[in-house]
Amino acid sequence: MNLTERDQKHLWHPYTQHKTAALPVGIVRGEAALLWDESGKEYIDAIASWWVNPYGHSNRFIADAIYKQLTTLEHVLFGGFTHEPAVVLSEKLVEILPSNQQKLFFSDNGSTAVEIAIKVALQYNFNQGISKTTIIAFEDAFHGDTFAAMAASGISFFTEAFQGMMIDVVRIPVPVQGKEAESMAALQKVITDKNCTAFIFEPLIQGAAGMVMYAPEALDNLLQICKENQVLTIADEVMTGFGKTGKNFACDYLKTLPDMMCLSKALTGGTIPMAITTFTTDIFDAFYDDDINKALFHGHTFTANPTGCAAALASIELLQTETMQTNIQRIHQRHLDFQKRIATHPKVSTTRVFGVIFALEIKTDSSFSYYGSLRNRLYNFFIENGVILRPVGNIVYILPPYVITDAQLQKVYEVVESALEIV
Ligand SMILES: *Cc1c(COP(=O)(O)O)cnc(C)c1O
Repeated sequence: MNLTERDQKHLWHPYTQHKTAALPVGIVRGEAALLWDESGKEYIDAIASWWVNPYGHSNRFIADAIYKQLTTLEHVLFGGFTHEPAVVLSEKLVEILPSNQQKLFFSDNGSTAVEIAIKVALQYNFNQGISKTTIIAFEDAFHGDTFAAMAASGISFFTEAFQGMMIDVVRIPVPVQGKEAESMAALQKVITDKNCTAFIFEPLIQGAAGMVMYAPEALDNLLQICKENQVLTIADEVMTGFGKTGKNFACDYLKTLPDMMCLSKALTGGTIPMAITTFTTDIFDAFYDDDINKALFHGHTFTANPTGCAAALASIELLQTETMQTNIQRIHQRHLDFQKRIATHPKVSTTRVFGVIFALEIKTDSSFSYYGSLRNRLYNFFIENGVILRPVGNIVYILPPYVITDAQLQKVYEVVESALEIV
């Protein structure tokens, strides 16, 4: 039996209806932008394996750093102890983060990074004797699948079974072009109507919603309103962090800085699960007290795992190389060229480019279920043609590893273009 067949016996996959889904592809090896399945077929990983893998698969530089750390100090508890990889990583990150981000809290994945930000926002007020419990979030947001992160997420078919069991979240429209004023008015209204503790958002681009983009000025306006009303702001940079938007962080495009940031995905270059929530000194100070009850009683067993920290340090070092920065600009330029060519295609309704992210929407005239079958047809077409892309409904996006070659990128574009012929 091959891996695909043996998988069926015991394994349960994410976001998968096992009765109707295609069987998973058994992958045995990866190198740079490529993956190979157990029959030897080659795939271009055009979504960097859910956005975690910008420096390519099986990266030797990161692997060496991990090996060195594993054979020096693989793990030590972070309660009552510290270690060099965490200290050096904190110093390195603070150098590249927005200047107001000064305190770092470790966890294991994007959802926990968000969970921690939300808990901190709630306790920040509680510690000061202020009752504020409403969280503001965007429509169609995605912030993860644990309870608070799920409550903040607005993609309803993910969360339908849990309605009524979640923290209080009020949603406002995303300030996409033409909706800026509506979004601002909605924010003003919820702040007037409710005791709002924090506003959480995916800065400038909503990944899971289908790479929905909006302008820095529009977000700056919303952040300004929050600042004026003592509402904390949480930038969920789990997807956007570490170069995807062309700058280190999407928040680098903003004038008003957030109070907290959530990092994960590309943090360790797709090697070891790790996340960090970052904070201003003002937030940290609200927990700094003689009273033990004002501490943040939150932690995970693998908090600040040294091996993960070493992987993150090596990843950031790679990100800062001239080669990687040139790659990011090169991919951006190729996307713009492809956009120019494809935007006028009769089956394309809109195209968007931001950093290394390209998205196009296919014209459809029908309902969501049609999107469902269209989505699966597209997905299967891409897999057959050796390109890994996961369309969101009728939206096809590309978010390649930065190390993808021009020839590989060209193949991805060609496969996307020929997919338009089957819809
Ligand atoms: C993926 C993602 C998350 C959740 O991260 P997990 O590691 O899957 O828990 C949260 N926020 C954003 C913006 C994401 O893209």
